[in-house]
Amino acid sequence: MKPAHYTVLAGGTGAAKFLRGLVQVVPEEQVHVIVNVGDDTDVWGLHISPDIDSITYALAGKLDTLRGWGLVNETFRCLETIEAFGMPGWFRLGDQDLATHLTRTHLLRSGLSLSETVERMSKAMGVKARVLPATDDPVRTKVETPQGMLGFQEFFVRDQWKPEVRSVSYAGATEARAPAVVLDSIRDAQLVIIAPSNPITSIGPILALHQVREALRCTRAEVIAISPLIGNAAVSGPAAKLMEACGYEVSPSGVARCYHDFLNNIVIDVRDGALASSIRYETIGVRVTNLLMPDDIAARKLAEFIVLSDSR
Ligand code: GDP
Repeated sequence: MKPAHYTVLAGGTGAAKFLRGLVQVVPEEQVHVIVNVGDDTDVWGLHISPDIDSITYALAGKLDTLRGWGLVNETFRCLETIEAFGMPGWFRLGDQDLATHLTRTHLLRSGLSLSETVERMSKAMGVKARVLPATDDPVRTKVETPQGMLGFQEFFVRDQWKPEVRSVSYAGATEARAPAVVLDSIRDAQLVIIAPSNPITSIGPILALHQVREALRCTRAEVIAISPLIGNAAVSGPAAKLMEACGYEVSPSGVARCYHDFLNNIVIDVRDGALASSIRYETIGVRVTNLLMPDDIAARKLAEFIVLSDSR
């Protein structure tokens, strides 16, 4: 019999923080992370997977937690030289980080799938959790603004998520397939956790894969989400702005609504405790605790609360 595993659906920053806590509470080998690829992009001919890198670096203990992305002790000499040639440097690529992108791009060009590439590279970094791209097919998040359709990184990094948002779409999601390992991971999990990630641009592209959404509806495991919103604001990033643009209430209730067709429970912050009864009314159970994770200790406490209160 296979050992029990915990399956986490993840974007970048918020999920990376939570996973640092989860691996202190359950054996890392028993953690599966299904990661968003909607943010993936090509820069200088290299395949960049920002969320996969944030998760892998965090699990390897090498994420720059102050910046929230990239590697610790990073330098940017290559990028500075590129900028000296008069080329745009808005997409920040560190010197060590470049090794990740060069290796991944090389492996992809030699015929490996993204899943195989990520497995090989995460193992080489000492990660024991299974890091699973949600799909090996190209799915790209697009943000419609008055200036036109933007790729996610153009909106998020270059334009610092300032443009007005008219809609968000996931190009390629209808045709994309989820690897069997992703679907099995959801089906056979002890517990499925939706990390505190942006519901529209981090979890949204994963759920746009109809096989994944179906697997979440069918799994016998409890599915529990951690709200990335406290009150009417995201802890960081554009989640609130994007939820509003997509017609969701900007609150933990709105987060529950994003996942309403498969969610059993949502964890909301103590400051939002008064919302519990209105969310419960929608047949989704509510648990209340402190959701802020300024450090690994807070992340461990949150993970303990979730894992140890499983099916309570
Ligand atoms: P993006 O930055 O919006 O593209 O999204 P990510 O999914 O990569 O990560 C940011 C999400 O994590 C945001 O929606 C944040 O509100 C959430 N987040 C970051 N730090 C914390 C935290 O300490 N607690 C909680 N609950 N959410 C967090």
